[in-house]
Amino acid sequence: MREGSLEAPTRHPIDWENPDFYDEAKLEAELTRVFDICHGCRRCFNLCDSFPILFDLIDESPTGEIDGLDPHKDYKPVVDACTLCDMCFMTKCPYVPPHEWALDVPHLMLRARAVEHRKGETRLADAELAKTDRNGKLATFVSPLANWATDADNALTRTLMEKTVGIDREAWLPPFADTPLDRRDDLDRIAADAAAPAAGRKAALYATCFANWNMPGPGEAAVKVLKANGVETRIVYPGCCGMPKLENGDLAAVAEQARSVAAAFAPLIDEGFDIVAVTPSCALMLKFEWPLILPDDPLVKALAGATFDITEYVVDIAKKEGLAPGMQPLGGDIAIHLPCHSRAQNMGQKGAEMLRLIPEAKVGVVERCSGHGGKWGMFKANFATALKIGKPAGRAMLKTNAAFMVSECPLAGPHLKQVMEREGGEGVPQQVPHPIELIAKAYGL
Ligand code: SF4
Ligand code: SF4
Repeated sequence: MREGSLEAPTRHPIDWENPDFYDEAKLEAELTRVFDICHGCRRCFNLCDSFPILFDLIDESPTGEIDGLDPHKDYKPVVDACTLCDMCFMTKCPYVPPHEWALDVPHLMLRARAVEHRKGETRLADAELAKTDRNGKLATFVSPLANWATDADNALTRTLMEKTVGIDREAWLPPFADTPLDRRDDLDRIAADAAAPAAGRKAALYATCFANWNMPGPGEAAVKVLKANGVETRIVYPGCCGMPKLENGDLAAVAEQARSVAAAFAPLIDEGFDIVAVTPSCALMLKFEWPLILPDDPLVKALAGATFDITEYVVDIAKKEGLAPGMQPLGGDIAIHLPCHSRAQNMGQKGAEMLRLIPEAKVGVVERCSGHGGKWGMFKANFATALKIGKPAGRAMLKTNAAFMVSECPLAGPHLKQVMEREGGEGVPQQVPHPIELIAKAYGL
């Protein structure tokens, strides 16, 4: 919900196929117009690093105004610091459409990245990390070796990675699974409980690259919880949603992913399956970003309409059919971190609502940016800033003294753990899993 408005902001399609979108003079003029409005407003001073960089540059310039900046030199660090979290657009800005100023800072930053991408200026490491399916296929094949090499305790390989590709040696990197989630026959074999309240529902669980190749925990828990509630559930993974490529401004590649994933889900949607994503950034892509990139594609539109975040889906079952009995109290308070890409889905605090369905659960909510920003926070150039941005969220989590700490974002959770470890003291959890894993635990699954 935005400050000062009860309405969700309107978002215009991204005009990425128009040559003007890549015209550098036009982009510079638009950045100047928008940055000048932000300079006059400054509401977003504490959301991320982009705005403080911009405001400091203006304040230290000869004129103290936007005309004191050198666009060729000064705009890039502002764009580079944006993690595309969407929070300025979704929660703060009073000048978003339909306001005549029509500000959409995240999509303007995206346009600036798209121009860089077209000029061949995307960092090699960013381009390679964005190939999540290729990386996942290779690394799951040799997962013990890959996990040995990427472990933060491996000083040898991590120093080498830092020196060669710029990934900070201390940043947590996700491990690779031995078996991809979509090849887990053991999960396929679990039968949906035909006597449970949601029997009759059908869900295609969009594994997402993270749960498929890296950490299957949330996907595994989701399958078990849905089947225990009677939902006929299939794990489906036609490919990555393209969020890491979006971060690189590679809009043509994102469009290609969108077309192919939407085509793979279309027959399931026709058969009455709901599409349930286990990672919020991916749900955001399917629901909101893809339809803005391909506004005339009927399959993308149908997929957007059929997609739920897993937390939203469990709450929907609870409201409409009621959840299957059997959850037991966990025996401790819960703190949930709601990441930016859950908030950007405009669905309310569904993760917290879902956890309150656990008997006797006392749930504290932390709604601040973790600072990770996808692959952005892994880089040496950004890691210290990512920790700094995540500090208020980490401190708020520690302050809850909760026995269980969870985050809906699989990258934000471990990053917040790193933030909390640096804060020191008692109460740093062993893990910060996804909230659906606590629901599975409450069911004893
Ligand atoms: S999208 Fe997020 S990171 Fe980018 S400018 Fe807005 S608040 Fe900052
Ligand atoms: S994005 Fe909107 S709310 Fe934020 S600083 Fe700019 S004008 Fe103000």
